[in-house]
Amino acid sequence: MSAKIIDGNAIGKQVREELRAEVADMRSRGIVPGLTVVLVGDDPASQVYVRMKGKAADELGMKSGTIRLPADTTEADLLALIDRLNADRAVHGILIQLPLPKHMNSQKVLLRMNPDKDVDGFHPVSVGRLVIGDRTGFRPCTPAGVQELIVRSGVDPRGQHLVVVGRSLIVGRPVANIFLQDAPGANATVTICHTKTRDLTAITRQGDILVVAAGRPEVVRGDQIKPGAVVIDVGVNRVEDTTKEKGYRLVGDVKFSEAVEVASLITPVPGGVGPMTIALLMKNTVQAARQLSA
Ligand code: NAP
Repeated sequence: MSAKIIDGNAIGKQVREELRAEVADMRSRGIVPGLTVVLVGDDPASQVYVRMKGKAADELGMKSGTIRLPADTTEADLLALIDRLNADRAVHGILIQLPLPKHMNSQKVLLRMNPDKDVDGFHPVSVGRLVIGDRTGFRPCTPAGVQELIVRSGVDPRGQHLVVVGRSLIVGRPVANIFLQDAPGANATVTICHTKTRDLTAITRQGDILVVAAGRPEVVRGDQIKPGAVVIDVGVNRVEDTTKEKGYRLVGDVKFSEAVEVASLITPVPGGVGPMTIALLMKNTVQAARQLSA
């Protein structure tokens, strides 16, 4: 059996098209959703992400701005900037691109943000809102993208055993919390695995839906997957490949060539979860604008 591929590019586009219509409607009522991204330092990967986020917002008719600060910016200056953005009524979403330079306390910086503008979903208030099921809160974009992929592929997680490999604050735990909710597109029975989990395979093989966010290339093999499972591979890893011009290729945390023979539905890497993250950031920004303008 060969699994059906979940096309993240197509589903991400679908989400963005829906948002384009919603933004047009908001604009006709004088509301222009505004996203400001703050980038401290010159990390090359962060520069690319920030550019992509700005471009996606502009394409949907939103207002985007990027504030670039030098790597030696003081924490006090960054906090003062956040205060100004919190007070700016044209800014509905604030995103502080992580990682921050080492001399800054990321938790302190995130805490300074108005949680009602926390479109990245990492403020402790956003985490709390997710856990208690308050839909006015923002969900981290990658985990929320995982839910969109599953639901829009026609899979109802209700009553299914969803196994997550990984317990990070940015992927594993929010994924678990999202699918645990008593809400449409959720209501799964959730198990979270990590490096101290005993007999990982016995658990992953129970997963009707298996979400892998381990951050290790191809660590989940075909024989660890329940036949017919839905497999969502969040991982993005560079592995050396001298046949490629860049000298590397991207692989997930799941051994795709094996998993595709066992699963019923599977995300590829790249082209699976990746394209969903920015689409969901846009969705969160539209939600912020809607809520702040109500
Ligand atoms: P992370 O912070 O390194 O967390 C990895 C988690 O996986 C940890 O909880 C770790 O357990 C667990 N783990 C690692 N190896 C394991 C194993 N062999 N068996 C069981 N559990 C294992 O990684 P992350 O930030 O969550 O990211 C996960 C992956 O998603 C990465 O490949 C990252 O690049 C990717 N990612 C993609 C996107 C996107 O597509 N937009 C966004 C975010 C992340 P312990 O807690 O016990 O150490």
